[in-house]
Amino acid sequence: MFDYLVVGAGFAGAVIAERLASQAGKKVLIIDKRNHIGGNTYDYYNSDGILVHLYGPHIFHTNCKEIYDYLGKFTTWRPYEHRVLASVDGMLVPIPINLNTINKLYGTQLCSAEVEKFLADKAEKKDRIVTSEDVVISKVGKELYEKFFKGYTKKQWGLDPSELDASVAARIPTRINRDDRYFTDTYQAMPLHGYTKMFEKMLCHPRIKVMLNTDYKEIKGIIPYKEMIYTGPIDYFFDNCYGKLPYRSLEFKFETIETECFQPTGTVNYPNEHPYTRVTEFKYLTGQKHPKTTMVYEYPKEEGDPYYPVPRPENAELYKKYQALADEMDDVHFVGRLATYKYYNMDQVVAQSLTLFKKIIASNGQENGTQINGHRLPALQT
Ligand code: FAD
Ligand code: UDP
Repeated sequence: MFDYLVVGAGFAGAVIAERLASQAGKKVLIIDKRNHIGGNTYDYYNSDGILVHLYGPHIFHTNCKEIYDYLGKFTTWRPYEHRVLASVDGMLVPIPINLNTINKLYGTQLCSAEVEKFLADKAEKKDRIVTSEDVVISKVGKELYEKFFKGYTKKQWGLDPSELDASVAARIPTRINRDDRYFTDTYQAMPLHGYTKMFEKMLCHPRIKVMLNTDYKEIKGIIPYKEMIYTGPIDYFFDNCYGKLPYRSLEFKFETIETECFQPTGTVNYPNEHPYTRVTEFKYLTGQKHPKTTMVYEYPKEEGDPYYPVPRPENAELYKKYQALADEMDDVHFVGRLATYKYYNMDQVVAQSLTLFKKIIASNGQENGTQINGHRLPALQT
């Protein structure tokens, strides 16, 4: 009998499985309906021998040392700071918008103080910042909003920015300095040998069994377990009883060419042209040296794998109804981007799982160094 059935072998599932097995002595079965572990961070060497991310580019970044160190037990980190250019007005300019973006776009030579004033003059005061349109226009005004955000957001979400929560566009800051990094977190790095290798190490434990190509509904009632950790879509768990939650999907098109380098930076965004939103060249992310190079083009779409919860009030309301059902279940824990319908980055999902682990341990009355099966467990390490 397994103590835990973990549904989904992405970050949410793998972290909790690893903790439960290695720190609480639990027997864990982790399953995934896909034919691999790693969830949406799964990477592999393509037929040309280039390390690619099957479900789009994943760059790890966090301000939390605890999370960085915890994952560092399963991988060596390769420092990497992601930089993105946007194709606007026939030029490639840095995004997030910074001092260099403005100077290049407008042919000016403003300093930080001057660009601050330039943006303040363009910005439109809003009494309440509710939508993604509000958040951008209140910082940089309509003109830059239309150049960088409106088209990209419509493509990515199939919605106007005025129909999306402020939190979506608020992911992209505005800077008056020359910092052209996409993220400013303290820790920014890639797993040296890739995400899949890191997951293999996490799940390589005598008390963890991995079962792939299996939807949990196929084994319900057949394989016995005491409690479940569920990381799939929450509406699917409850048979869509309140209706389906909207998710945004993507189609990934890969292209390999016989040249060492295709574009000037890891990702180029296309807010206003092409049906795809962005193009990422993997070798920047992975540091791999290879005579060829592979890119991925992201085409947003309505149907398909559920990649993004869609942050807007009516969806939050619908999620709350499912959450109320989830809260009533004592023997099932919901964690991760799909199970809690949150637009979370990888580090936030890891944090969520580590918190759930601590909660489970606390409710089981187990403290650091508790005896299990006659063995004193090491102090909890997170
Ligand atoms: P998932 O990785 O989706 O794992 C859930 C797993 O559950 C899946 O493998 C699925 O097959 C399985 N499953 C679902 N239902 C069932 C079922 N019924 N039975 C069995 N198995 C089931 N984050 C960053 O921090 N940096 C980035 O650069 C970044 N880039 C991203 C780019 C894209 C295109 C996308 C879509 C996301 C990106 N993210 C990024 C977010 C990141 O992917 C997520 O935060 C993280 O992978 C979520 O982990 P998870 O375990 O919650 O979900
Ligand atoms: N965004 C935009 N233009 C850009 C980059 C981002 O309008 O050049 C908006 C868009 O709505 C996008 C959101 O900001 O969905 C978040 O961008 P991020 O790069 O964080 O998206 P993710 O990597 O999660 O797809």
